[in-house]
Amino acid sequence: MTVNYQVFARKYRPQNFDSVVGQEHITRTLKNAIEQDRLAHAYLFVGPRGVGKTSTARILAKALNCVKGPIVTPCGECDACREIAQGISLDVLEIDGASNNGVEQVRELRENVRFAPARGKFKIYIIDEVHMLSSAAFNALLKTLEEPPTHVKFIFATTEPQKVLPTILSRCQRFDLRRIPAALIASHLQFIAREEKISLDDRAAHAVARGAEGGLRDAESMLDQLVAFCGDKIVEEDVLSIFGFTAGQTVSLLCEHILNGASSKALAVVHEQSEAGKDLSRLMTDLILHLRDLLILKADPEAIEEELGEDIAGSLKAQAGLISLDRLLELIEQFAAAESRMKWAPNKKLHFEVAVIKAIQTLSQATLTEIIDALAELRGGGAGSLPPQGGTKQASKPPASPPAPSPVSMVPAVSGVSVVRERPRAPVEAAALWPAVLEAVRERRPFILSWVESGVFLGVEGDSCLIGFPKSQGLALESLMRQGNRAFLEDLLSEISGRPLTIRCEIREDLAVASPSEKKDDLPLDPAEALKNDPLIRKALEIFKGEIQSA
Ligand SMILES: [Zn+2]
Repeated sequence: MTVNYQVFARKYRPQNFDSVVGQEHITRTLKNAIEQDRLAHAYLFVGPRGVGKTSTARILAKALNCVKGPIVTPCGECDACREIAQGISLDVLEIDGASNNGVEQVRELRENVRFAPARGKFKIYIIDEVHMLSSAAFNALLKTLEEPPTHVKFIFATTEPQKVLPTILSRCQRFDLRRIPAALIASHLQFIAREEKISLDDRAAHAVARGAEGGLRDAESMLDQLVAFCGDKIVEEDVLSIFGFTAGQTVSLLCEHILNGASSKALAVVHEQSEAGKDLSRLMTDLILHLRDLLILKADPEAIEEELGEDIAGSLKAQAGLISLDRLLELIEQFAAAESRMKWAPNKKLHFEVAVIKAIQTLSQATLTEIIDALAELRGGGAGSLPPQGGTKQASKPPASPPAPSPVSMVPAVSGVSVVRERPRAPVEAAALWPAVLEAVRERRPFILSWVESGVFLGVEGDSCLIGFPKSQGLALESLMRQGNRAFLEDLLSEISGRPLTIRCEIREDLAVASPSEKKDDLPLDPAEALKNDPLIRKALEIFKGEIQSA
């Protein structure tokens, strides 16, 4: 390294339109305007920080004031070009709106505007963060903008165009600079590495690029720090440990667990990263970016190609098949909301975990619909719902017998436990209802599952679903009957059965203590056990890799 160490962002600042990274749509238009001599009086460059607004403004200034100008490719050697590059040109005045937001500076500017340029053809005012100017300063500026002398050009830059007065906006030609794709940033970092004789691992370059979120200057600053810490050999591990980033593969794995509904595995990844001291807000951002990549892959596969490394593209393609576009949008919205909540939260991990569980719940709701559809299909594709009334206990009928005139036939079981047997052409049988409810509770409200499980499904009577509780489980019954829980269960019952159902719970002295571990042998006709033997339910469980929980 030389003694006069220059940060990379400055050393590799683009000096002509062609070396601006990732903004071709703008540099092309500007070059055309210069070539065709159709220059505007005022330009507004809009875009996030570090994507090249000021650099492009300076290149435009050089293109205008170069001795050979206006010219598409400024020579870079004449006095005008050199002075502009060094920021000492008398004809190009750079004003930082953030620090000069007083009306005084703008008044000075207005005085100054009247004088002809010292050397070049134009007097060029570059006002950075123009939205920070006070409204008095804005108004003063506006007067100049209304009747600009022909030798004056304004180039404004802002990260927040919505804060710029409409009267100013309307007088500018506006260009929106975009976030720079990660792959472009990575290859620019490799270019710098080659120039500087640094060995920069490809994955390391990509990790920095993703971490910079589209900002080239941030990426270059990160590279500065990496060189300071690691010397001339940089690998992915360095990037991850110095900036607290999570490896791209880990982010992908986390996403995979979420899409598979594997909540404990997903939470384990979050826990590991938290224990390893990773920045969880950063991890959330990475997860959202990963989902966004999935979204683009699904919506427009070609657009994603320029952005991604090979190994990431492979796992993305596999994951894209696991989720529909609608669900993906929903997940991104949920995580984006969680991301902004996390910003100010003292316990980021908790927010992260809740977001993961919510996401999996969202996904499993779709799965439930799929279960219902699949059950209907297995039954022969009939539409309909649970019968309007049932529960009149009838004589036991073998399952294979023709449908009884009564819509539902019940098989009385020991201890007053009844099992509702199948009825052809109903999408969700009463028999399938309870296991589906338990499954849904497990997915959506796991905290109340043990209470629900301590009840015994007794059947459907009229519009009520009857649940019995052994005397020892009175507390569970009470807890379930609290307003929120009851409403949740009734909604669930109605959703799964396809008709409005209320829930009726009662203490039944005849029910044995139904602790799941104790009742294997005593209650052979426990509804869950009986259901396990139902070929249809077995098929459904195979399809969805589920299991029946003992009631
Ligand atoms: Zn020049």
